[in-house]
Amino acid sequence: MRIVLLGAPGAGKGTQCKRIVAKYGLLHLSSGDILRQERAAGSELGKKAQRYMDSGALVPDEIIVKMMVSAIREAPKADFVLDGFPRTANQASEFDKSLASNGEKIDIVLNLKIDDRIVAERMTGRRSCPKCGAVYHIENLKPKVEGICDKEGSKLIQRPDDSPEVVANRLKTYHLQTEPVVDYYKNNNIVYDIDANKDADEVGALVFEKLDALVKA
Ligand SMILES: [Zn+2]
Repeated sequence: MRIVLLGAPGAGKGTQCKRIVAKYGLLHLSSGDILRQERAAGSELGKKAQRYMDSGALVPDEIIVKMMVSAIREAPKADFVLDGFPRTANQASEFDKSLASNGEKIDIVLNLKIDDRIVAERMTGRRSCPKCGAVYHIENLKPKVEGICDKEGSKLIQRPDDSPEVVANRLKTYHLQTEPVVDYYKNNNIVYDIDANKDADEVGALVFEKLDALVKA
């Protein structure tokens, strides 16, 4: 099973990926992790990517796609779930071409659909402990004492990533760049929409229902 998991930031992609990997024993390929590994290893692709990043530019689609394909080729398993990739319609079509040249294809695209308002509530409500890294939420996961970490009593902060301005920007980028990825795969009739406004367990149940049916088919 080769799965692409799509969804806005804050839609719960990471959580659902972990569940899918645990249940079906797939390889979890996160483009962010792979980019970090390639840079750390100083591979040729990693060095190229680093040069773009040093100049403040986005890493071109071609390099990202090559990294993902090489990670898949080197992987011990043929089946995978992709997280954070493809990020643009161009990456998706280049990736499809690479897979096809090896007789492979994506089997299903799980599209976690979530309202911007819910994303904003989830992300801007996060509070983090600068000392131990624990993450809380002002509504859903309150510390015992407001604004204070349960573990060692540090004062909680809102990380810059979780500020309303940054969240609004990330949502805007998502709608502009990544929604066309959903449309691209819809043309291949492999997109399955999942209501991600629900809590993680309910979303997980919907994901498993669909993947179980696919495994049996
Ligand atoms: Zn702490």
